[in-house]
Amino acid sequence: MSTDCLFCKIAKGDIPVTRVYEDEYSLCFPDIDPKAPTHLLLIPKHHIPSHAQTTVEHRQLLGHLLEAAAEVARMEGLDAKGYRIVINTGPDGGQSVNHLHLHILGGRHMAWPPG
Ligand code: 5GP
Ligand code: ZN
Repeated sequence: MSTDCLFCKIAKGDIPVTRVYEDEYSLCFPDIDPKAPTHLLLIPKHHIPSHAQTTVEHRQLLGHLLEAAAEVARMEGLDAKGYRIVINTGPDGGQSVNHLHLHILGGRHMAWPPG
């Protein structure tokens, strides 16, 4: 828990969100500024600043997050047509909230390459 971290506050319940999916290790909620018809954020409850700080000690958690993202995609009906998972990392990666999060985007065709 980082006291001045927005996503830690959301994980703790200090800032209310629609809890689309939740388990012991992770929480999924809608992005406040959606970039697709479905745009969810999946965060670990434990504070990790970004993907760049993850190491072998996070291997199980990272696997858990990817598996939970697939569960959420199925729950949201995104699995048939597909979806995109994005982890923006650091300044060049376009990360704006420094708590590791997966974007789960779906409901429209995604262009490639990203901007
Ligand atoms: P990043 O830019 O770090 O990859 O993604 C951060 C995301 O968090 C952005 O898509 C932004 O819209 C979202 N976001 C920022 N503040 C809030 C908030 O207070 N609530 C929710 N639900 N999403 C937020
Ligand atoms: Zn945090």
